[in-house]
This record gives sequence, C-alpha cells and structure tokens, in this order.
Amino acid sequence: MSSEVWSKADLHIHSNHSDGVAKIPQIMEYVATKTDLKVIAITDHNTIEGALFAKELEDVYGVEVVIGEEVSAKEGHVIGLFLSEEIPPGLSAAETIRRISEQDGIAIIPHPFSSRGVFGPFGRNAFTSAVSELAFHALEVYNSVPYLGWANRVAAKMFTGGQGIAAVGGSDSHVLEGIGTGYTLFRGTTAEDLRRSIEQLETRAEAGRGGLALALRYAFRIPQIRRRQAWNWERCKVKA
Ligand SMILES: [Zn+2]
Ligand SMILES: [Zn+2]
Repeated sequence: MSSEVWSKADLHIHSNHSDGVAKIPQIMEYVATKTDLKVIAITDHNTIEGALFAKELEDVYGVEVVIGEEVSAKEGHVIGLFLSEEIPPGLSAAETIRRISEQDGIAIIPHPFSSRGVFGPFGRNAFTSAVSELAFHALEVYNSVPYLGWANRVAAKMFTGGQGIAAVGGSDSHVLEGIGTGYTLFRGTTAEDLRRSIEQLETRAEAGRGGLALALRYAFRIPQIRRRQAWNWERCKVKA
C-alpha cells in the first residue's frame, strides 16, 4: 500500500569516523532536536564503523539510521546504502557497485561532476557511457557543498534525460549545522519506505536552507521523468 506521507532523509553525512567533525551521538541529538529528518544515512569515507554505532543509538534518539559508506573507487566516490559489510577503497566503480548490490544495497553516485566525482568535472561523455555500463541505482543531483552549485546543475540536467535512475539529495555535511541542508524526499516514513521509494524512482532531491530554484524546477518534472524512466529500470540492475 503506498502512503501519501512524504518524509525527508539526509543520505550523505560524515562523522568523525572519517573526515567529519561531529561525533555520532552529537549527530543523532542534532537530527532529533533540530531537524525534521525521519531517516539519515551515515556515509563516512571507506568505513561503516560510525554508521554501525549510529544504528545502535537509533532507538535512543528516535531517528532511523541507514548504514552507508562513501567508498573511494578508482574513478571517484560511490555511496553504498543499506550495507552490512564494509567495502574496501581502490576498486573500480563497477566492482564497488557490484559489491554494494551483492549485499542488497543501494548504490549512489554522489556529486557526480565534482572533481572527486566518478565522472569528473567535465564528465559528460563519461556519464553517458557510465549510464549504460554502471549499474548504479541513484544519482545525487543535489549536494549542498556550496562550490558544487554548478556540478549540481549539470547533474540535474543529465538526470532529466530519463535514464532509469533515481534522484537523491544529501548534505555531504562534515559539521552539525550542515545536516539536512540537502535531502531526499521519499514516500513513507521508514528506511524501508525510503528504499522502496528509490527503487520506484519517485524520490526527489531538495535543498534545505538557501533553497535552490533548481530543486523546485526539478520537482515539478518528477512525474514526467519517472514515467520515462520506469521502463529502463531492469537495465540499471546488476546483471548476475
Ligand atoms: Zn565525496
Ligand atoms: Zn561525502
């Protein structure tokens, strides 16, 4: 049964277990008291240690946690969500995504056109081929790191091409105050609802404070984009 309730999830948060400043209990406290996020993903660089810790605290703070990792693949960063095992850095993006899918995880290409993105700052051609070669599930079309404005715009435009990829947003926050500045709107309230919403290509990427005209423009096009994408979903899954 599909719910008509939509909730917010920040799917890209760093803690002090990688290069973030905030400690896990501080993040949980901040999310519980200062934001309206229902679900968060802790996505530290190449470790799930902080995410596992946050998961243990979810009942204490009433915030649902998705175990994530921002893996440094050879070509750039790849985010895995709903992980149970850590994925080592240094693998190809394709292999990294394969390992995420193997654990029944969701693979996201974050900040796709930044210099540390898989497709690089001038990655239009790389993106075009990757869309058919890499079996990722979602593209982070909104990342709130300020200098990535241009890269976000490119990502959003690419995404409107109807490639069977879900759109997600995340803050990429490395400090408490950044949490929730970029987020994913999903149907339902729980982490499993979030997963389903991503699989159904109905999530939206939005900006929190300092909201972007882009995010709005994008949101209006969702139903149209979703229809164009649905047919292509099979192709985006990993082939066994
Ligand atoms: Zn990154
Ligand atoms: Zn990051």
